[in-house]
Amino acid sequence: MRVYRAAGAVLEPRSTAPRTAPTHQWTFKFRSNALCLNFVASMAGPRSRPHGVERWTSPALLEEWFHRSGLPILSTSLNSGDVADARELREAIFRLATLEQRGAPASACDIDLVNHWSRRQPYVPILDAGARHQRLPEVLEFAELMALVAADAIDLFTGEFNHRIKECASEKCPILFVDRSRAGNRRWCSERPCGFQASSRAYRLRRSESDDEAT
Ligand SMILES: [Zn+2]
Repeated sequence: MRVYRAAGAVLEPRSTAPRTAPTHQWTFKFRSNALCLNFVASMAGPRSRPHGVERWTSPALLEEWFHRSGLPILSTSLNSGDVADARELREAIFRLATLEQRGAPASACDIDLVNHWSRRQPYVPILDAGARHQRLPEVLEFAELMALVAADAIDLFTGEFNHRIKECASEKCPILFVDRSRAGNRRWCSERPCGFQASSRAYRLRRSESDDEAT
């Protein structure tokens, strides 16, 4: 089970099971091993930003992303201004997450934006029934959810895995992920489909090369 860190706290997420059936052929990807990078993955094609495919094309689709993210329930419906805010934070997190890949220094504007959202709503932990764990509230406002995403980004960028932010090795997959493996040699965001597809391609290539040698 994923564990989100926010404001220095370890938070048990709500169930990640979808609460509604998919309404689109594509689905949001949650293979990044970090809340803030799952947020980034809502635009397909980070390697070609700003030419990626925007998935948050309506307030309803942003609501759906929050709905599927495992975060608490949104307290209100969203509007186009919320979508613009979420896109702005997402792109700032993307740029800060890819400083090394892009060979660019951190932008003060991007840092200010992440800090702006992380400060919007101070996180108030809830003590669970066993009194040994804390959890997120059941319902949060949009700004509080954005604050959780921003806090997760701060936690990632300043934590022990900040040098383990990687692009998936699959040419077809644009996802950024955090390699939390012990060896730090993970190449794909997920074994399925990305690692499996790469292994299949390598196998077919070896087969075709050995067939060529045999003829
Ligand atoms: Zn991948």
